[in-house]
Amino acid sequence: MVIVLGNNPNKEQLGGLVSWLEAQNVEIRKTEGSHQTILGLVGDTSKIDIDLILSLDIVADVKRIQEPYKSANRKFHLKDTVVDCGGVPVGGGHFQIIAGPCSVESEAQILSIAQDVKAAGANLLRGGAFKPRTSPYAFQGLREQGIELLLAAKAQTGMPIVTEIMDMSQLPLFEQVDVIQVGARNMQNFEMLRQLGRTQKPILLKRGLSNTLEELLMSAEYIMAGGNDQIILCERGIRTFENATRNTLDISAIAALKGMTHLPVIIDPSHATGIARLVAPMALAAVAAGADGLIIEVHNDPPRALCDGPQSLTPKAFEELAGAIEAIRPYAHNYGTPR
Ligand code: PEP
Ligand code: MN
Repeated sequence: MVIVLGNNPNKEQLGGLVSWLEAQNVEIRKTEGSHQTILGLVGDTSKIDIDLILSLDIVADVKRIQEPYKSANRKFHLKDTVVDCGGVPVGGGHFQIIAGPCSVESEAQILSIAQDVKAAGANLLRGGAFKPRTSPYAFQGLREQGIELLLAAKAQTGMPIVTEIMDMSQLPLFEQVDVIQVGARNMQNFEMLRQLGRTQKPILLKRGLSNTLEELLMSAEYIMAGGNDQIILCERGIRTFENATRNTLDISAIAALKGMTHLPVIIDPSHATGIARLVAPMALAAVAAGADGLIIEVHNDPPRALCDGPQSLTPKAFEELAGAIEAIRPYAHNYGTPR
């Protein structure tokens, strides 16, 4: 971290700043120029509040040289992390497709979709039991029963299951869930992230609607601080001025994140676009760009889906897409991963 001081800094205030910084266990290298003085901080500056320093009268500017995320940082952990999702590896060259309905609606629905997506090549089953809906009057998910139905589908197909947690009070219900999803709206629910860090479960962490990649990694850092490094990052579209699509898919997030972190990165083209017709082209773009996987919504009867029908693929469309992915996978290199 570098602190640029203003002209003729008040000596007393400067002394105060220096002793405060020393108390934070960082070494200070002072460079006095003819016009400006610079303080270079050496050591672990991750706990130093940049805004607090910036607010001081004697400080003109503060710049971070090192990223504030440590555990998730590729610099300190060159090798790709492989996340073990109930026996299915994700990351480090292991590409997987997670597929299933937005929400679990009935036993017949989840069992038939699970069988169809498995036959088409999906390796993990998704399905929401607890649904974060914008309207409190919209279908909120089958909750506990939804988890039971997912477990039945897992027992029948052998596919590990991925489902979203919305509150830590629900955790006991997730004992047999293979991957716990933290949805976009909870990406910065720091207390939840902290507690999930104390579990041994793989976490699928979705990028918040308006969050930067650095903020996404800081959220991963919360989970890792508790000792859990089994995290898959998911880009699912961000809010922009564009309204032709539900969100704007940030494809560059794949290669950018792979330079920043060793954690696997997957893409959700369903929530990113909100339009079934756009799911296949965006999924293929993500594969080409080096994503470690995809999470795709599939419904046996999209027009009658209780949630997100317009963006859901039919099992047949999913099968076609899975074939196209298979065809381009050999050409998809990990361009973003520094070697
Ligand atoms: C979902 O995956 O069902 C979901 C609600 O996603 P997001 O949190 O990305 O909106
Ligand atoms: Mn959905």
